[in-house]
Amino acid sequence: MADAGAPAAHGLTVLAGPTAVGKGTVSTFIRDNYPQVWLSVSATTRAPRPGEVDGVHYFFISADEFERRAAAGDFLEWAVVHGRNRYGTLRSTVSEAIQEGRAVLLEIDLQGARQVKAAVPEANFVFLAPPSWEEMVRRLVGRGTETPDEQQRRLETAKLELAAEPEFDSTIINDDVQRAADELVSLMGLTPNPR
Ligand code: 5GP
Repeated sequence: MADAGAPAAHGLTVLAGPTAVGKGTVSTFIRDNYPQVWLSVSATTRAPRPGEVDGVHYFFISADEFERRAAAGDFLEWAVVHGRNRYGTLRSTVSEAIQEGRAVLLEIDLQGARQVKAAVPEANFVFLAPPSWEEMVRRLVGRGTETPDEQQRRLETAKLELAAEPEFDSTIINDDVQRAADELVSLMGLTPNPR
């Protein structure tokens, strides 16, 4: 959990938002197109999806290993997401990147964003919002990687998460991935790529 050992705020941006709003798609676009952004790789107890690479998309670790690292205070923040798997941001790598002067981006859930806000209130908190509720449902169901039960659980989480927008410094509407990513990069104080 977050505590006073958190890194300095300089250069830290947190992107959060409701389930299936497309945070992962925006962060993938940034990973592929903006090498100047240091995108944090989270640890998770979730199993890899096809195509996901350990150390690139996540550090895939066991529940025991997660527990051990949480107890050791290795996480800047961590949360159980969708009442199921654990996800966490490793404190050491993020601190190093900030100290090196990098533009650091965390793509995390709302519970995690609140922990970072408590630890590093000066960081830049950005809410990614869907163009509409209908569009968000369509995206969630369209992904097709979760069971109907899992989709329902995610929708319920999403409704609560949408209400959190006023807690954030800025909102980006994810109407177009490239546009949203460019706006995020601008909010991070970097120059978007020419189109
Ligand atoms: P997925 O399993 O689809 O990759 O991610 C599920 C959710 O976990 C997403 O909302 C994502 O933002 C969130 N998440 C990913 N990494 C972290 C993390 O390090 N901490 C927290 N709190 N949430 C995370």
